[in-house]
Amino acid sequence: MQTEHFWMPFTANRQFKAKPRLLKSAKGMYYTSEDGREILDGTAGLWCVNAGHNHPKVVQAIQAQAASLDFAPTFQMAHPLAFEAASKLASMAPKALNRVFFCNDGSEGVDTALKMALAYHRARGDAARCRLIGRERGYHGVGFGGISVGGIAGNRKQFGSGLAGVDHLRHPLNIAKNAFSKGLPEHGAELADELELRLLTLHDASSVAAVIVEPLQGSTGVIIPPQGYLQKLRDICTKHGILLIFDEVITGFGRLGSAFAADYFGVMPDMIVCAKGLTNAAVPMGAVIATQTIHDVLVNAAPKDQIEFFHGYTYSAHPLACAAAIATLEVYREEKIFEAAAAMAPYFEQAAHSLRGLPHVKDIRNLGLVCGIELEPQIGKSTTRAYDIFEKCFWEKNLLIRTTGDIIALSPPLIIDKAQIDRLFSQLADAIRELA
Ligand code: PLP
Repeated sequence: MQTEHFWMPFTANRQFKAKPRLLKSAKGMYYTSEDGREILDGTAGLWCVNAGHNHPKVVQAIQAQAASLDFAPTFQMAHPLAFEAASKLASMAPKALNRVFFCNDGSEGVDTALKMALAYHRARGDAARCRLIGRERGYHGVGFGGISVGGIAGNRKQFGSGLAGVDHLRHPLNIAKNAFSKGLPEHGAELADELELRLLTLHDASSVAAVIVEPLQGSTGVIIPPQGYLQKLRDICTKHGILLIFDEVITGFGRLGSAFAADYFGVMPDMIVCAKGLTNAAVPMGAVIATQTIHDVLVNAAPKDQIEFFHGYTYSAHPLACAAAIATLEVYREEKIFEAAAAMAPYFEQAAHSLRGLPHVKDIRNLGLVCGIELEPQIGKSTTRAYDIFEKCFWEKNLLIRTTGDIIALSPPLIIDKAQIDRLFSQLADAIRELA
C-alpha cells in the first residue's frame, strides 16, 4: 500500500506511516482491523458513533437516499428532507432552541454560531458587541473562529493569534483540589465569576457578543465543569445581554445520558453547536440550534426580499446527511439509546475509578459515558507515556482508546454493555501496568 499521498490530519505522519494502524470495517461496538482483528471501540470512533457502527437503519436510509436525490442546493432552493431533519432535531433539542442552521461538521458549526452572534447583535442595532469570549483548553474545531475562541497553545504556535477581539476564561481543571472526582468536581465554580469580575470589567460588557464553552471539555483531556459553574456563566451572560453558546459537538446526542448537556445540567444556552452524533457519524453534518428570538431578530431586520444571514455552505442540509440524521435521531428515540447511556453511567464510573492506584495514574475524572485518565508524563517526554499505552492497546489488546497529551480519554458508543466495559478497563489496566 502506498501511504505517501494521504497527508493525515492531526497525525504524526512519519510515525504512523512507519507502522500504519488500519481499520477496514465496523459493526456495533467493534472495528475490524486490516489484519483481521476485532477491535473494541472505546472512543466511538472520534466521540461520534453514538448508536454503534453501521446501524442498519442508518445504512439503509443513506443507501436509499443516494439512489433517489444525490444533491439539491439549499440556497434559494431546498428539498423536503432538509425541513424534516431540522424539525426532528429541533424536537430533540431543549424547548427554547428550535431554529436549525445546517453545516457539515463541528468546526463549521462553531464559526456559524459565532457569526450568528455577531449578526444578531448588529440586527438589534448593537453592533458594538463584537468581542467573543472562549476558554483556555477549549477545543472548538479548526476554523479561524474556532481556533481563536479555543484555548490551545498549538494553534497559537502554528497559526498566529487568530481573530482580534477575543479573550478567554481560565479552564476549571484543578487536580490539586479535585483529583479522582466522580461526576462533577466540588471545587471551582468561582472560576465562572471571573467572567464578570475580570473579563467584563476589562472589556466592558457592552462590547461582548457571546461566550462559547464546551459544557464538558473533551478533546483537551476531559475537563468536567465544577458544580454550579455553568449556571453561573448563564446568569452572568443573561445579566449582561451576552449570548451563551454551548459547543455540544461531543456532549450532544446522549453522551451524558440526556439528549444534550444543556438538559443534563438544566442550563439553557442561546445556541447549541452539534455535529458528530447527529448522523451517527455516517455522513458529515453539523448544525447550530438557536433560539427563535435569535432567528426572528436576524430575519426580521432585513427587507423581505433580501438574504438575512449572509452565510451558508454548498452542502448545508445535504440530502445524504439529512437522510442519515433523520434515521439516526429515530434510532436514538426508538432504541432509547440515551436512556441506556444514563443507566450504564454508574457502572462505567465504577470501572473507570478501579484504575486508581495504577502506576503513574494521577487523576481519573468522569461524567456520563466519558472518562479521562491523566498520567504523570515521562520526564522530558510529554505525551509518550499515553501514546505507548494507546499503541499497546491497539496491537496487543485489540482496544481502540484515544489519547491527548498524557491523558487517556474514553467515550465508547452508548450501546456498550457491562462485559464490554469490564474488558475495556481491565485490558487498559493491563497495558498501563505492563508499560510501567
Ligand atoms: N467542537 C468540539 C467541542 C469538538 O470536540 C470538535 C471535534 O472534536 C469540534 C468542535 C470540531 O468538530 P469537527 O472535527 O467535526 O470539525
